[in-house]
Amino acid sequence: MHKMLSSLARSAIATSLALAFSVHAAPAAKLPIVKEAPLRGHLAFLSSDLLEGRGTGQRGGDLTVAYLEAQAMSAGLKPANGNSFRQAVKIAGVKAAPESSNVGIEAGGKALPLAFGKDWVWGPGDAKPARTMDAEMVFVGYGISAPEEGWDDFKGLDAKGKVLVMMVNDPMPTAAEPNRFNGKGLTYYGRWTYKLEQAARLGAAGVLMIHTDASASYGWSVVQNSWMAEQFQLAEGKIGAGMQGWMTDATARTLFAASGFDLDQLRAAAEDKGFKPVVLNTRVKGEMKSTIRSIEQFNVAGVVPGTDPKLKDEVVIYTGHWDHLGKQGTGADNIYNGAVDNASGIAGLLAMAQEAVKAPAKRSQMFLFVAAEEQGLLGSAAYAVSPLWPLDKTAANLNLDSLNFVGATKDIDTSGSDRTELGMMAAATAKAMGMGISPAAPDLAGGYFRSDHFSFAKAGVPAFSVKGGKDYVKDPEGAKAKNATYRAKYHQVGDEYDPSWDLSGMVQQAQFTLNLGRMIADAPKMPAWKAGDAFGKVRAAK
Ligand SMILES: [Zn+2]
Repeated sequence: MHKMLSSLARSAIATSLALAFSVHAAPAAKLPIVKEAPLRGHLAFLSSDLLEGRGTGQRGGDLTVAYLEAQAMSAGLKPANGNSFRQAVKIAGVKAAPESSNVGIEAGGKALPLAFGKDWVWGPGDAKPARTMDAEMVFVGYGISAPEEGWDDFKGLDAKGKVLVMMVNDPMPTAAEPNRFNGKGLTYYGRWTYKLEQAARLGAAGVLMIHTDASASYGWSVVQNSWMAEQFQLAEGKIGAGMQGWMTDATARTLFAASGFDLDQLRAAAEDKGFKPVVLNTRVKGEMKSTIRSIEQFNVAGVVPGTDPKLKDEVVIYTGHWDHLGKQGTGADNIYNGAVDNASGIAGLLAMAQEAVKAPAKRSQMFLFVAAEEQGLLGSAAYAVSPLWPLDKTAANLNLDSLNFVGATKDIDTSGSDRTELGMMAAATAKAMGMGISPAAPDLAGGYFRSDHFSFAKAGVPAFSVKGGKDYVKDPEGAKAKNATYRAKYHQVGDEYDPSWDLSGMVQQAQFTLNLGRMIADAPKMPAWKAGDAFGKVRAAK
């Protein structure tokens, strides 16, 4: 009797689990199954030399957009932007012109001898070609305003007309507060992109960040090279402060000393929440000039309308960036094909879309191919500024960037999903596919803030990137070694398609993403953020 009951109970539990976890209740024949052949075809074409590395502002990028549009149409997706699959993304290419500028820093009435590139770099955050600066400098510590941490570095400072000097990263954990600002993990407050955004929000005239190798995890040469070259930013909708830039640690030391302060003392003071902004006895003065180029790029977006009369007004968005580094230089091979990064992701999305249209879900599903990720997530940022679907009716965003080219795995990496109920749903989706979730690793470098899904998260939409597993089914050691060869090809001309690739892992990753997307699309409610998450507050405020 007892045994009988318990086996009945077990089967009841099994049934309810099956119901809870089943992707949807449709007969198996209607389940969309991602096919390898179209995925391989899209991947081979998009990464071919003919597409010239899908560069931003280049012919290869235009060809890619035309291809994506044609494929969206032929798959039977509905245009997401009125009658069009395209969404314009207006980008400014900005290159500082120090040779025709005389902007500098005056400390105690004397000009500091600063060389552009060697000692500091700057550019306009608002894409204006010329500006005259005459602004007081204020040291604002980490430049963070975080109500949920009870932290405010500004203490009511009127930042208008000031140039804010900031440290990067976020306050370090202490013995008394080991978990402040996520302990050793990086919060978004620590990313330099946050610092630029915060300066713009406060209406500051400018922001200069202090570089240290340790806080950046790379040397000054990386900053120098990228700020001496043309940089891309959104031309409208999301504008930075008039002057943005970096100075070296040595420059900061000289500057602070010249205005009568000790940098190390002020740095130490900035670790305390009682820190107050320090007006430096220095000014940024002079003309800053830059050359500006306007470029119009396009996001491509198509929709599978939902079937439920109510829920079809809500959407699940799948994203992947179509751009890579294009054609550069005059070498024998000057095409940055970006086969893995990210022809694989958009090939995956196309193969998913081809099946998704055959078996719509309750909510609508959008396939969004974003532009200019390699230039700083610009296409997805532009989408978040001007969404094609209301953000408060966007259930989730699942992003694909650089898929598994090695082989099928027993696990799938869903890091970042546990900030929201997507974590639970991802685990259920993996389980239904006979897979596990990859072991969690602490996000010390802020990886969550560096992919297109983050443009959605910042706007309050539950979002993460589905990454490939590492526990390979076939020849685990050989497969790991093969995967490791990619490190040397990352952002190099050698990121090329190889017809011998085993795409079973890529198909599996795309299938997982589609299955999870459908689970979200068919669920009674949209997924929620975990209590206390700073990005969840953005959604709650809407
Ligand atoms: Zn990349």
